[in-house]
Amino acid sequence: MAEANQETTPRQYINIELLTEALRTGNIVQFRNEFLDMHPYNQAEFFKELDEEDRLNIYHYLSPEEMAGLFENLDGEEHEYREVLAEMSPSYAADMLSNMYADDAVDVLNELEKDQVVSYLTIMDKEAADEIKELLHYEEYTAGSIMTTEYIAIVANQTVRSAMHILKNEAPRAETIYYVYVIDEDRHLVGVLSLRDLIVSEDDAMISEIMYDRVVSVSVGEDQEEVARMMRDYNFLALPVVDFQDHLLGIITVDDIMDVMEEEASDDYSKLAGIADLDSIDRNPFTAAKKRLPWLVILLFLGMFTASLIGRFEETLNKVAILAVFIPLIAGMAGNTGTQALAVAVRGIATGDLEKENKWKIILREAGTGFITGLTCGVLITLVVYFWKGDLFLGCLVGISIFITLIVATLAGSLVPLIMHRLNIDPAVASGPFITTINDIISILIYFGIATAFMSYLIE
Ligand code: ATP
Ligand code: MG
Repeated sequence: MAEANQETTPRQYINIELLTEALRTGNIVQFRNEFLDMHPYNQAEFFKELDEEDRLNIYHYLSPEEMAGLFENLDGEEHEYREVLAEMSPSYAADMLSNMYADDAVDVLNELEKDQVVSYLTIMDKEAADEIKELLHYEEYTAGSIMTTEYIAIVANQTVRSAMHILKNEAPRAETIYYVYVIDEDRHLVGVLSLRDLIVSEDDAMISEIMYDRVVSVSVGEDQEEVARMMRDYNFLALPVVDFQDHLLGIITVDDIMDVMEEEASDDYSKLAGIADLDSIDRNPFTAAKKRLPWLVILLFLGMFTASLIGRFEETLNKVAILAVFIPLIAGMAGNTGTQALAVAVRGIATGDLEKENKWKIILREAGTGFITGLTCGVLITLVVYFWKGDLFLGCLVGISIFITLIVATLAGSLVPLIMHRLNIDPAVASGPFITTINDIISILIYFGIATAFMSYLIE
């Protein structure tokens, strides 16, 4: 997704040469003319490419307020935020942070050291600092940590005309003006209106009459993934966040949810591959190896277990050496089908679609899929082995093994993540390599089990 994004960046909107030249030659007027015309996202893209010297110039050319818009779009890594903020004078940085939307400022501050955060908060504009302090309390990955307090709330006992008046006054500071939330005197959330609802209503209509009072909200401790799911299901542009007594605390807007979705998706993907955190490209080999090694070592021992399993069938193997030829084929097929089923299951769990389904229905469907794929591959391989080795019994043995293996491996690939999810273990850690190894073991047991049982037919 990220790659597609880069390709579609409207480069034509950024006149890089002109900007860089104006920046280096100190042509402030020209730089500001061109730069402030760009969308903050493009400004941020330009900013990311600069070296320290150019960045230091920019801080002189732009006010903290102008810098705030750029920073809201920066999406930086930890060290980037730390480095860049350190280049600014403390008062410039603090000014910029107070001009940012509170939730974006919190994202930046969360990447800094504690004492640095405190020092910025003390020199910052007091009102902004208070808002940010409140948000900093919330646990990472919860609704509270991604919400913003810059929403518009009105009371029910007024006309549309006066509500529009309030809206007009508050609009410059609000993160979104499309939804107006209605609260009572104790700040309980009692209703919601969209801007469209307001515009199409009579000026003299009372808010209490036109508002929608079955408000969908999330509680402040809710997992951000769940918030993303609700946002997708209800198709709202923002969701209100409440405490356990239904007091309105903030809102979460759809743009922040898009970041959550990307974060969670890449998170699940890397866990699927057995890496705790997707390695960024610039990480050095030692840190990357440290993350991957624990998994590889566990898998190494599981693999030795598989080897010792094969060893237990040594007698069978000694008598019919040809059996060994098909071990990689059967184990490989088990791994392949298990990984396919696993990918589908993990995605289903992540999107919440699987939870709504009846468990037996899932098991039946997976068994059915395994049956069809197993039968097809089994018959195919039976014929191939028969024509290749001229041994119908050997063909049937490999074919039947593949048939049973594919059914079991498909079931394992989809059920293991479901069971893990039930046990409250993140299903994405039931990663690909893990399932592959389990399926190796199962498939070898099946293959040699059948072979040993019908040994007499093989030796003729
Ligand atoms: P529509 O889709 O009906 O044409 P719209 O596109 O203008 O409306 P939507 O964002 O789809 O607006 O919101 C639809 C309706 O849902 C609005 O009337 C709004 O009042 C209501 N609404 C907004 N947020 C919430 C919420 N959290 N809970 C319940 N209703 C909400
Ligand atoms: Mg709509």
